Formats: sequence, structure tokens, C-alpha cells
Amino acid sequence: MDLEQGPHVLTWELTRACGLKCRHCRANAIPRRNARELSLSEVVTVLDDIASTLAPPPLMVFTGGDPVERSDLSDILRASVARNLHTAVSPSVTPLLTRKVLEEWKEIGVKTVSISIDGPSPAIHDRFRRVDGTFAASIERARDVRDLGMGLQVNTSICGDTLPGVPGMGELVKDLGVTSWEVFFVVPTGRGRVLPKITREATESTLKWLATYAQTVRFRVTAIAAPQFRRLILENVPGSPWPKFPAIREAQGFAFIDHLGEVCPSGYLPVSAGNVRRTPFSKLYRDSPLFRQLRDPNRLQGRCGACEYKRICGGSRARAYAVTGDLQAEDPACPYVPAGWEERPSLVLPVHA
Ligand code: SF4
Repeated sequence: MDLEQGPHVLTWELTRACGLKCRHCRANAIPRRNARELSLSEVVTVLDDIASTLAPPPLMVFTGGDPVERSDLSDILRASVARNLHTAVSPSVTPLLTRKVLEEWKEIGVKTVSISIDGPSPAIHDRFRRVDGTFAASIERARDVRDLGMGLQVNTSICGDTLPGVPGMGELVKDLGVTSWEVFFVVPTGRGRVLPKITREATESTLKWLATYAQTVRFRVTAIAAPQFRRLILENVPGSPWPKFPAIREAQGFAFIDHLGEVCPSGYLPVSAGNVRRTPFSKLYRDSPLFRQLRDPNRLQGRCGACEYKRICGGSRARAYAVTGDLQAEDPACPYVPAGWEERPSLVLPVHA
């Protein structure tokens, strides 16, 4: 698909209200809904634009906060399905997410449900989500999703606290029968700013492990906020075809609408291209200066700008921005040194007396 014309995935934060208090939350989620959230009729107007303008249409992922906090969530999902949009939901696992709710989503026509599990034990997951019992409930809901015949995606957030659980998670997702496993390399935004970070070397070795692991399973394995995963696949999996295509990343095949209607390149990159209350989403994605510059590999700086992999990777723009304040800076989590790269010598000449 032409990533200039529309996103492959559109994640939509319907609310920031959430009953959990997760340590990494990029949304700084809060207990109550914001009165200025997009209304149902505003959401439907955006869905009309998406369905009538973007071909092929994006995979719609309704998230939060916790989208289940919206009493009109079922109406939103019906509106999305009615427009023939591939519809997915990414809820929080709280007492609001019952099997009955999942049955209703199945009846509406939701294709995929994402459940977050950050480690293979309560010791890792419940500590990270800061609510005891969330691990057991997440396993139960994940099994419900599979029983009901919907696609099950498990999302795992990686930071210093959860890194030791990655191999165990690899076994758990097999046991759960997932259709995809998305591994999020936490970007230091929102509450995630203060989490223990992982080094470049640990990021690299984890991605290498994932690249090898992905060859042994029949479901999709993806690294989020770590597009250098594609370099690791090229280096470690000879003959793999998909890394030859551009990475799906911020503003390039991926977009995010926040709870107030701001259109951002990703949830981890809270810089707005404009608001759907004033400008159609499709126009902001295609024509806004922010989105256009993020799709241009010639604007990349530092090692990403010099890198032979920049067209299939380009580094995480969200992480570059969170760490340096520069959208085009090199990705600080990638240790790769491009061929011929030399650190630029200082332009400050020594002063001789
Ligand atoms: S240097 Fe940048 S473009 Fe090259 S592999 Fe690393 S993150 Fe990707």
C-alpha cells in the first residue's frame, strides 16, 4: 500500500479514563472521562471520512486509557464495522471487561482484541500495572477472546522492570494461542519517563532474540517503537522478504487520534498535526507538514541520516523526540554504526595563545 496516502494502522484513544495506574502509561491516564472528549457524532464524522477517502482503509484500533469507560463504545464499534472497517479494541483489564462485554464485541463484528501482558508472572505484570490480580484476570480474558473466535493480540511493554520476563512471555503467548504478539519498547513519555531504562545493547540483544524467535512460530511478532527490528531481521534471517519494504512507523503507515481529536504521528509522539474537529483526518495524514517531514528519510540526522537502512527503518522518531527534543535526531536506542560513519569532529578550534 502507498503509505503517503493513508495509514495501515490507526490507533484511536477514545478516552483517557482508566481504572488501572500502569507505571509506563504514555497517556497519564486518569480515573474520570474528560468532558471535552470527541462525542459519538464527531467520532462518526471521522469514520465517514476514513471509510470514504482511504483505500485501502486502515486497521482501526480503539484504545484509551480504557475505551470500555465510554458508555457509547458499542455504538462506536458498530459504526466502524458498518463502514467495513477492520475493527479492533485494546481494552484495559479491569472489572469492566467481562466475558459478556467480549461476547457483545464478537456479535458486533470486532475482529481482534488486544490484551496487555507484560510478564509471564504476577510478580512482573501486577507490579507493572499496579493492581493485584490483573495478571490472572488478563489470562482469563485472553482465553475468552480465543474461545469466542476473535483474533487475540498480546501486547508486552519492555523496560528495565519487565525485560527479564521476555523469554517466559515467548512461551506464554504460544500457550495462549495468540494471533499476534506486539512487543512495545517503552518510550520515555507520560508516566514512562521515570521507568528503569534498558541499554542500547540490551535493546539490540532483545530484538535479535525476537527476530530468531519469530522464525519458530506461526503468528506475527512485531516490535513497536523499535523499527531497527527490520535491520536485525535482515542481518539474522537470510531471505526474509518483508524488511525490504518501508517500516510502519510514526506518520508512515501509522497515526494516532487522541481523546480530544488531535492527530499525532503516534501515541508515544504527542505532537499534533491538527484536530479532526477542524480538518479531516485524511487531509492531516496526507498533507500536514508534520506528517510529510516525518515520512521523508532525507531529513533524518545523525547515524539514522547516514544509515544504509534508513529507508526500511528510520529509527523511532518518538524516542528521538522524547530524549532529544528533535524529531529528526538519531534513535538513541540503536547502537548501529553505519558504514563509513564517523562522529563529526568538533567545529570549535583550539585557541592558541
Ligand atoms: S541507525 Fe537509525 S536507521 Fe540505522 S538501523 Fe539504527 S535506528 Fe535504524
